[in-house]
Amino acid sequence: KKNIAVMTSGGDSPGMNAVVRAVVRTAIYLGCNAYCVYEGYEGLVRGGKYIKQMGWEDVRGYLSEGGTLIGTARCMAFFEREGRLQAAKNMVLNGIDALIICGGDGSLTGADRFRSEWPSLLEELVSKGDLDQKQIEPYKHLNIVGLVGSIDNDLSGTDATIGAYSALSRICEMVDYIEATASSHSRAFVIEVMGRHCGWLALMAAVATGADFLFIPEKPREDNWKEEMCQVIKQHRNMGKRKTIVIIAEGALDKHGNKISPSMVKDLLADKEGLGLDTRITTLGHVQRGGSAVAYDRMLGTLQGVEAVKAVLEATPETETCFIAITENKITRKPLMAAVKETKEVAKLIEAQRFNEAMALRDTE
Ligand code: ADP
Repeated sequence: KKNIAVMTSGGDSPGMNAVVRAVVRTAIYLGCNAYCVYEGYEGLVRGGKYIKQMGWEDVRGYLSEGGTLIGTARCMAFFEREGRLQAAKNMVLNGIDALIICGGDGSLTGADRFRSEWPSLLEELVSKGDLDQKQIEPYKHLNIVGLVGSIDNDLSGTDATIGAYSALSRICEMVDYIEATASSHSRAFVIEVMGRHCGWLALMAAVATGADFLFIPEKPREDNWKEEMCQVIKQHRNMGKRKTIVIIAEGALDKHGNKISPSMVKDLLADKEGLGLDTRITTLGHVQRGGSAVAYDRMLGTLQGVEAVKAVLEATPETETCFIAITENKITRKPLMAAVKETKEVAKLIEAQRFNEAMALRDTE
């Protein structure tokens, strides 16, 4: 009987509970034992009460709960080999055959690193006398599958990450609330939304709420952005609009790589010499991660959780580590590292652009 463990890691996202429920129940349904690792990699490193066998009823009610009920953490110890050694030892001592990890690109990078080091970790544990040869024999190959849980929708190779549509829905709901009061007082609001290096949430929220202006990292603003924004907003006001909504992603940049902050935008809108609008800043913050998952994320978490269990059961030592994606509405398996690498390259491109242009500026000073 195979022992399959599931854990959630990194930033929490709505829909992670659907994943845990689906993995636990699919594992049991297919004749395996199901385990949860609590508190992400921290639980794997600590072992003991952090690794718990789960029954069918233990995940009852999970679908409609927000956040992650089995906890998540950022774990410094897992960045060190010593921490990963401890994690490997706990996996073997608990007889875990396969690990399903739901997290962002950081967590999935950690997972791939763990798998590639696995044989040498076991060897070291044996040479140190922590485990004996017979104990490690059934665990020569580490079976890992990733699921992408992130509100940012920031991983290459999948159309949607688990949690992104819940966060987007929450943002739209909040913008609707703000619009009502903005209209009443004829005010302008600068609304900052999450997304780290990715502007997906900001872009889709702007589309879905009909915002007046938008700042995202993928489209660094030209030098004339101030004039451009004022002109657009003035035009909207001239057409009789009583409210102004500007959405700004937390990673928003100008083309020189300088951050565009909500207060810069606010000062501009409020400038008495210019538009002179009564302007407020609203940073939506953690409400974007909270609350229960929308139907799409419950569905995505469940279907991908089922697929993840199938993937670990079908894996052979030759199989490349995969993650579960959704591509053109189909649940698919894809090589994990290629997607993480591609994601990093996109982020790097933005970084490189910031750097080069900042350097160019300095040269011409
Ligand atoms: P997310 O998964 O949401 O992107 P993080 O980037 O914080 O979140 O990663 C979550 C955890 O994954 C980290 O705290 C760490 O324990 C582990 N991790 C991330 N990157 C690595 C890495 N390169 N090597 C080992 N572990 C890593």
